[in-house]
Amino acid sequence: MYFISYLLFHLQVLVADSDKLAHPLAEPWAELVHLVQQKGSYSHIITSSSSFGKNILPRAAALLNVSPVTDVVEISGPRLFIRPIYAGNALCTVRYTGLDPCMLTIRSTSFPVPPVSSESRPNAAPISQVDLSTFSEDNLSKSRYVKHTSQETERPDLGSARVVISGGRALKSAENFKLIEKLAEKLGAAVGATRAAVDAGFVPNELQVGQTGKIVAPELYMAFGISGAIQHLAGMRDSKVIVAVNKDADAPIFQVADYGLVGDLFELIPELLEKLPEQK
Ligand SMILES: Cc1cc2nc3c(=O)[nH]c(=O)nc-3n(C[C@H](O)[C@H](O)[C@H](O)COP(=O)(O)OP(=O)(O)OC[C@H]3O[C@@H](n4cnc5c(N)ncnc54)[C@H](O)[C@@H]3O)c2cc1C
Repeated sequence: MYFISYLLFHLQVLVADSDKLAHPLAEPWAELVHLVQQKGSYSHIITSSSSFGKNILPRAAALLNVSPVTDVVEISGPRLFIRPIYAGNALCTVRYTGLDPCMLTIRSTSFPVPPVSSESRPNAAPISQVDLSTFSEDNLSKSRYVKHTSQETERPDLGSARVVISGGRALKSAENFKLIEKLAEKLGAAVGATRAAVDAGFVPNELQVGQTGKIVAPELYMAFGISGAIQHLAGMRDSKVIVAVNKDADAPIFQVADYGLVGDLFELIPELLEKLPEQK
């Protein structure tokens, strides 16, 4: 596990090299964050709002006896943050008044990647090993690594893809959902889905976009047969351009769409597939 820390703006990389940390289990990693904080007394600890970050940070915060601030979308000051509430329908400004460390999960899609020119590249950061001699093994028996399974796919990662093609309940079956997958392949895009599509078993849970799924903000988000429930919008409304295809002209998705097409996806997707050029 690697930590990158800014000590008075001096970048430092800490490496915790141990077999006990070989697999991404939240309990030992939270214990490690606890240990590193006790030695380093850092002012802030930040992870991304990924399922892994959200698994570790609250555990580490409990060990350190502080309350984390989650899903930060803007940093207004060292202890002043903006985060969404009510499924993204309102933004709340939060001042952290607790003890150090101030622990945050941040939505990385809300922060643009800063341009890095060759002149502005910092000097190589020193790398040091974390002293694990006092690493407590108390928590290690609470969970056990069994195996890791994931979808073998060459498609881009949903959380960071530039283009996302999503489908909803209207697809009706896993077989029909392949239309979405074909379109995604043609556009070099990631595939997303609504909870209704996931619950119906068309696609695995890891493709769910929304309040209880992944938060995405691609350059282009195309929604096929998706009504636009607030829980789904919470996961994609920050996309730069939203295209919606729905046969109901009154579907709420059209309220957030930049381009809307009222029509039957079973006619429109094959037409799109035919007209789009093959990816080079
Ligand atoms: C606590 C909680 C958390 C939730 N979290 C999430 C979440 O993270 N993500 C999420 O997505 N949902 C979430 N939901 C569920 C959410 O409320 C909606 O039920 C879900 O998003 C609806 O999915 P859908 O748009 O696919 O289905 P529907 O709402 O049924 O919409 C289907 C749409 O397809 C259109 N349609 C039908 N046939 C066609 C066709 N042939 N061509 C074109 N359009 C067609 C219809 O007009 C309709 O608008 C959550 C709900 C709760 C209570």
